[in-house]
Amino acid sequence: MNIESRLAQIGSQEDPNTGAVNFPVYHSTAFRHPRLGQSTGFDYSRTKSPTRSVLEKAAADLENADGGFACSSGMAALTTIFALFGQGDHLIVSLDLYGGTYRLLEQILSRYGITASYVDTNDIEAMEELCQGGTKAVLIETPTNPLMMITDIEKVASWAKAKGYLTIVDNTLLTPFLQRPLDLGADIVIHSATKYLGGHNDVLAGLIMTKGEELTKQVAFLHNSLGAVLGPQDSYLLMRGMKTLALRMERHEYNSIKVAEWLKAHPAVEEVYHPGLPHHPGYEIQKRQASGNTGIFSFRMKDARTVEPILRHLKLIAFAESLGGVESLLTYPAVQTHADIPIEIRKKVGVDDRLLRFSVGIEHIEDLIADLGAAIDAALQEIKEA
Ligand SMILES: *Cc1c(COP(=O)(O)O)cnc(C)c1O
Repeated sequence: MNIESRLAQIGSQEDPNTGAVNFPVYHSTAFRHPRLGQSTGFDYSRTKSPTRSVLEKAAADLENADGGFACSSGMAALTTIFALFGQGDHLIVSLDLYGGTYRLLEQILSRYGITASYVDTNDIEAMEELCQGGTKAVLIETPTNPLMMITDIEKVASWAKAKGYLTIVDNTLLTPFLQRPLDLGADIVIHSATKYLGGHNDVLAGLIMTKGEELTKQVAFLHNSLGAVLGPQDSYLLMRGMKTLALRMERHEYNSIKVAEWLKAHPAVEEVYHPGLPHHPGYEIQKRQASGNTGIFSFRMKDARTVEPILRHLKLIAFAESLGGVESLLTYPAVQTHADIPIEIRKKVGVDDRLLRFSVGIEHIEDLIADLGAAIDAALQEIKEA
């Protein structure tokens, strides 16, 4: 069945007792055993819980994975995966990384003797130079956020495989609807399901998808042992959001390309970073490995003084962190999502005080352009008068 149909039907045939089209929320943490040595398949809800199981099965199916694990947040999913590693292990990681992942690696995992090197993951030679005896895995984000750098997943995964490293992909920005890294050779996919999968800025969740029996077993052990699992109500909300993923992503892509094209032609804007525009350096790779574009992109203003008044004058678009919801949000990465990344690294990747990130929602395109246009005009007017 096509992915649109599988998404719309998540959980709809999982409750034969009642025929419920929406799988119910089972709050029970404990489950009766029929007799000694027997189990219904459920014992204690940290290990396995009915509503979460339906979500995990659906998520694994969408990503062509052998195992699916729902976590209490995207960071919980990453923490669980990082527990595969220990003292002396080393990771090779995308340079333009999600701020929270960087913080986890540098401020917490470093205390357990796990180190990371940051590199442009398109540059295999540079990655080759970073390899050490303890290197165990490559972690990539593609596109990265906020600079929307694209990495060739197949190329990195085959390089990593030859070295005996795991390939982990944070697929938050594209979702399995648009990109399936496990099919391109990756071993593990993680998602902040808080973003596009949930889609409504109302549920915090993470997902892990694994390939291979041994790895799936290891992750199941960590998921249960660490206990950062998703609750039943949030599992339900996530499934409810995922049912409309295909429709939402199509509109996110359409709107984001329209706004990006409009900004590219605007005289107050210096550069637009959107992998769906042909001038983007990752355009060809992205077109090959994904079936469409995400709804977020970044743009750099010519004058840093325009940023504050633009954020103040927006009426429809919210000045807020996060991405991937139906509501449009504008983020200022240097002071919000990327504040924990040292200034030298931020400069190296281009997250400066003129960069804005736009998570384009599903509102009408004319309203979005009108709101952004009016805010830019008002900002330029203020600067002229100052
Ligand atoms: C938001 C995000 C995370 C962290 O997920 P939470 O659900 O906020 O814990 C990880 N990676 C990427 C790419 C993200 O956008």
